Amino acid sequence: MKLPFAESFKIKMVETIKKSTREEREKWMKEAKYNLFNLKSDYVFIDLLTDSGTGAMSDKQWAAMMEGDESYAGARSYYNLKESIKDITGFPYFLPTHQGRAAENVLFSAIIKADDMVPGNSHFDTTKGHIEFRKAHAIDCTIEEAKDTTIELPFKGNMDLNKLEEVLKKYPKEKIPCIVVTITNNTAGGQPVSMANVKGVSALAKKYGVKILFDSARFAENAYFIKTREEGYADKSIREIALEMFSYGDFMTMSSKKDAIVNMGGFLAFRNEEDWQKCQMYNIMFEGFITYGGMSGRDMNALAQGLREGTDFEYLETRINQIAYLGKKLDEYGIPYQRPAGGHAIFLDAKKILTHVPKEQLIAQTLGIELYLEAGIRGVEIGCLLADRDPETRENRYPELELLRLAIPRRVYTNNHMDYVAAAIKNVYDRRESITKGYVILKELPIMRHFTVELGPG
Ligand SMILES: *Cc1c(COP(=O)(O)O)cnc(C)c1O
Repeated sequence: MKLPFAESFKIKMVETIKKSTREEREKWMKEAKYNLFNLKSDYVFIDLLTDSGTGAMSDKQWAAMMEGDESYAGARSYYNLKESIKDITGFPYFLPTHQGRAAENVLFSAIIKADDMVPGNSHFDTTKGHIEFRKAHAIDCTIEEAKDTTIELPFKGNMDLNKLEEVLKKYPKEKIPCIVVTITNNTAGGQPVSMANVKGVSALAKKYGVKILFDSARFAENAYFIKTREEGYADKSIREIALEMFSYGDFMTMSSKKDAIVNMGGFLAFRNEEDWQKCQMYNIMFEGFITYGGMSGRDMNALAQGLREGTDFEYLETRINQIAYLGKKLDEYGIPYQRPAGGHAIFLDAKKILTHVPKEQLIAQTLGIELYLEAGIRGVEIGCLLADRDPETRENRYPELELLRLAIPRRVYTNNHMDYVAAAIKNVYDRRESITKGYVILKELPIMRHFTVELGPG
């Protein structure tokens, strides 16, 4: 008999989570102004808001924390992390930062100026925020197929090379500080980018004399998909694939809270000494001295270990299989989501589920609220709230896709939890016709409003 799949870890410590009643959840949701970010985590049974910083650290990571060196300058932990980053990414220079957006802040302070153009594959929200905050423009060059949730493609996060070349042709290279390659493409559904596509982007970057930035939060999951889906990579290790991917880049920003399985941390890594030096001043101003940059020694140690564990094939197989497991359950129930299942999350296609809610009333957010009320599960809207207003016209942007992202924390939930999630979604799906009203915005910030927005029933 063929042995079934089983997780490549066992559980050493547990944390209690609590169920609640529908009446309680209705009250809490109202008090939270219908913004899932405003809910106390104690009011959530299964928290799929994000996979960022929510993973379970290993015994080896906790042990590494005890050995952290808290020296202000030149700490052992810094050199330990430097070695781990060099081994896994090939980048010889790096700056620690407190998380991914901090790395963006430091790098973009050094390289982006007003009116610059920054092409990329679905820039992540903080990346776009940091670009637009500097009065530059993020130009999305993702392949068109990514917008159709029904199309099954192995590398649906890819850059459209024709779209990219048009941008590179249209603007002088002085106006293009870098091309952002996001691996995996979070916004498009945790969809991977193929090595062939990375090579194509690299060829164009060379032709037009432009640098490549890898937004690398989920680079290991991307490498897993290359290994399992792209011809010629089946026999290569995750590490070999990661090294090859990064060999095409000039720098990388990293949210270590994702694939490096730590609760807080980030970094910025460079091919060239000059780029590293250019960023040092900003790192010192915004983050901390160049050998700790917003991280304590123990956290750098846990991160050094996390990078190694996060690029282990068996760990990645366990992780990606769990997302696929939830996807398969949803298939059984006929529930539409961004296909194929992504690396870190399932993205429910809210427009196809809540067909009776008008777009002005925040379709994906409405689905998120319904799922919370149904079963105490918290997801996150990837739709109109996240898309923000147009920086010039201040009009609401209505993206083609309204998605509810259910991000699965690393090494945290079991497949029983996935069964529970799938059943709750089915219950909402079964009563979808009766959901005709959504929510309207009562109060919002001028940028990245989704975190703090206040809503009322539409
Ligand atoms: C999370 C993330 C970031 C930002 O990182 P933080 O650690 O949340 O600041 C940037 N890019 C991508 C693709 C991400 O997923």
